[in-house]
Amino acid sequence: MSLLVVGSVAFDAVETPHGKIDRMLGGAATYFAVAASYFAPVKLVGVVGDDFTARDAAVFRGRPIDTEGLERASGKTFFWSGRYSADMNDRTTLVTDLNVFGEFNPKLPDRYRTAPFLFLANIHPSLQLNVLRQMARKPKLVALDTMNYWIERAPAELEMVLHEIDILVINDAEARQLSGEHNLLRAAARIQQMGPKILVVKRGEHGAMLMQKDSIFSVPGMTLAKVHDPTGAGDSFAGGFMGWLAKAGKVNDRTLRTAMVYGSVMGSFAVERFGLERLRRLKRPEITARARQFRRLTQFTL
Ligand code: AMP
Repeated sequence: MSLLVVGSVAFDAVETPHGKIDRMLGGAATYFAVAASYFAPVKLVGVVGDDFTARDAAVFRGRPIDTEGLERASGKTFFWSGRYSADMNDRTTLVTDLNVFGEFNPKLPDRYRTAPFLFLANIHPSLQLNVLRQMARKPKLVALDTMNYWIERAPAELEMVLHEIDILVINDAEARQLSGEHNLLRAAARIQQMGPKILVVKRGEHGAMLMQKDSIFSVPGMTLAKVHDPTGAGDSFAGGFMGWLAKAGKVNDRTLRTAMVYGSVMGSFAVERFGLERLRRLKRPEITARARQFRRLTQFTL
């Protein structure tokens, strides 16, 4: 089943202990779309400026990614820059220039409006709400990602959109910030009161947790020989997670658990190279092999 995503398409500048890149293609929706496209057809909503070339757009070509909803506006593409700590567990945002996203008012192509799976990737909550409002019918599943930038700048809009979603995909620090609770169980319970009944908490190299009212499922992080650039790991996780659910076509405990593993698989590939380099060159057997590695990592008898 098809999967609609709205979020940032960006140029990023990143500095990690392995190097510094002044400008590379990025953005939450870009990582998400590329990761999800290995599982299900994706429809993309976003905006780029006139500095976004055909070479940049090539990342979407040759994949089941519909870019009719990727608008071109005059001005500059969203720009973000960040620096990672020596152990890469922390990052500092140096610059966020919304540029063309500042004025963006998306108009969904008709064929986008019936998508059964919707992912509101990281962007201004009012844009997330705007897209949700344009759906012709209630999607089977709506998930949302956000970050400290929006939790701090647009809390009222974020609160509104949270009421209308099923799953919140968020990292542990942001779950604590959003809920005002340090303990993750308490943070999850508080967030569940805000709307989403299911929480996916991303914990960087420590893996991810699926938190429902009465159950928790946990996937460890994959220990990797090379981690070059954590940028986009969260969005790639979300792409694998939602991509798998859209492929399965149904949402239940079983599909959610497998989706957590495919999310972890895609996140683990994303960090192996800078930007989208690893993700865009993946082969399907590599995805399957890594999912099996996750199974071996967690199998035991009692
Ligand atoms: P992640 O590492 O998965 O959290 O996502 C990194 C991506 O998010 C980068 O490619 C950035 O372009 C994008 N990004 C960073 N800050 C924002 C923001 N405030 N709104 C939307 N996208 C952002």
